[in-house]
Amino acid sequence: MQRYKADVVVVGAGLAGLVAAVEAAGRGRKVLLLDQEGAQSLGGQAFWSLGGLFMVDTPEQRRMKIRDSRDLAAQDWMGSAGFDRAEDANPRAVAEAYLDFASGEMRAWLAGMGMRWFPVVGWAERGGGLAHGHGNSVPRFHLTWGTGPGVVAPFAERALALAESGALTFGFRHRVTALDLAARRVAGEVLVPSDAPRGQSTSREVAGEFEAEGESLILTSGGIGGDHEKVRRHWPVERLGPAPERMVSGVPDYVDGQLQGLAEAAGAGLINGDRMWHYCEGIENWDPIWPNHGIRILPGPSSMWFDARGARMEAPCLPGFDTLATLRRILSTGQDHSWFVLTQAIIKKEFALSGSEQNPDFTSGKWGEVIRQRVLNKAATGPVEAFKEKGADFVVADTLEALVEGMNRLEPECPLDAGALRRQIEARDREMGNPFSKDAQVTAIHGARRYLGDKLVRTAKPHRILDPAAGPLIAVRLNILTRKSLGGLHTDVRARVLDGSGGVIDGVYAAGEVAGFGGGGYHGYNALEGTFLGGCLFSGRTAGREV
Ligand SMILES: Cc1cc2nc3c(=O)[nH]c(=O)nc-3n(C[C@H](O)[C@H](O)[C@H](O)COP(=O)(O)OP(=O)(O)OC[C@H]3O[C@@H](n4cnc5c(N)ncnc54)[C@H](O)[C@@H]3O)c2cc1C
Repeated sequence: MQRYKADVVVVGAGLAGLVAAVEAAGRGRKVLLLDQEGAQSLGGQAFWSLGGLFMVDTPEQRRMKIRDSRDLAAQDWMGSAGFDRAEDANPRAVAEAYLDFASGEMRAWLAGMGMRWFPVVGWAERGGGLAHGHGNSVPRFHLTWGTGPGVVAPFAERALALAESGALTFGFRHRVTALDLAARRVAGEVLVPSDAPRGQSTSREVAGEFEAEGESLILTSGGIGGDHEKVRRHWPVERLGPAPERMVSGVPDYVDGQLQGLAEAAGAGLINGDRMWHYCEGIENWDPIWPNHGIRILPGPSSMWFDARGARMEAPCLPGFDTLATLRRILSTGQDHSWFVLTQAIIKKEFALSGSEQNPDFTSGKWGEVIRQRVLNKAATGPVEAFKEKGADFVVADTLEALVEGMNRLEPECPLDAGALRRQIEARDREMGNPFSKDAQVTAIHGARRYLGDKLVRTAKPHRILDPAAGPLIAVRLNILTRKSLGGLHTDVRARVLDGSGGVIDGVYAAGEVAGFGGGGYHGYNALEGTFLGGCLFSGRTAGREV
């Protein structure tokens, strides 16, 4: 049995845990940072992320002529969150505090550590169509140079330096299986070493046992998206319809939610477990890293979106608008999949894939690479073209009839009628004759192009889908992709964990996804994107400064 004593024990070396550990150790606390994975996994999910951060009223926004403010961001956040439960008091308070941070010192704090952002700010999750409701009124998704690894690096480097100086001790391959919150003690298994590459499943074979005790304990063990049974158990059937039978996994399998369950059993309050954030645009990775690995397409506004039965989906179920409304709409067909139909011209300009490894140009942090991949390139980016060629969900054809034949080969149980599809596409194409339209999606395309960033890099020139010059035609079968838990351990604005009755558990803190990114669910029902990494940075920093 290995025994440890430290001022602060942090469980989970993802972004939230790293930030908390670095903040605490930087203030002179002796920190033990435990993770069930090996050193190669340092940074957790954030390493794989696109590195998009929700920030408000930044120089990047101003340069793109975006007028943003804390008031506008608060309008959007509260309209999206729809807080409506007694237990939403702390989540709401954390959301307010994050809005102060994201419109205040966040950018300067991160820039001071060397982080930089791509100058074109992305416009994610445009919402449900009402100014006071869900969605981002303006672009706020700040893509970090270096993507996820660029977000992790400053904290990982500091943690490694603090470990050199003895202020921080890593306990890799230490899996916590028991918690005593009152005693701030954790116990568990030391797993056999693993040299599996980052992100791949690792052995759970046990080599020994350990116990660790601290004056303070910080839980930063992530969400539940890697355990589909847990996702189904918490699925809000009344809001979204029945849980999908088939889903692809947007997270590595260590995002297993096991510690969250242990914390609840040990007396921590768990709230908003039925609020979650899964995507509708998942594709099976042809070159998987983790089991059932899915990649999310971040679509521009022009792909036509059809449900499994071939009906074009109505606003706000349009690419890039309202994730959960679209999820509900897709599942209302009794099927788990839907379809994009688009052209080569659209895929080239509009398809981005979420994940650091899918964007080697942004991940490299080099302008030359971005220009070569996205401006000079006649095709889409290399990773997008590879999916088009090798992905199980892609069909490419010169005529609509051949395209539908290919789609029906993928989904023979739910075949589409080429004639019905043609009628809907031709109707949409006729709307291209004017610079205005009654079609909500066509109107949205024109609207998007009034934002310089969308016009430059995200929105294809409006064209007819059936124009052979824009071809070939492409269909993509879209799967539901699990990703984020919006609920979690109940904490207050100081990141202190509360018990089932709302009382503070002395010395116990939680941050990042395990705490619903702060408060036990600071997003409420809907997220504005970039708020996950943002929430890990903010709540991890809060916890690390409290202990
Ligand atoms: C492909 C991808 C793209 C994304 N893009 C974005 C984006 O652009 N913007 C954005 O805001 N968000 C994005 N996200 C989401 C964001 O990356 C995550 O929500 C965030 O990184 C979660 O961090 P965390 O520290 O809370 O948890 P994690 O990163 O999951 O880390 C938790 C750690 O705890 C460890 N652990 C768990 N249980 C135990 C245990 N019992 N004992 C010991 N250790 C344990 C795990 O091994 C893991 O290392 C993306 C995520 C993915 C996967």
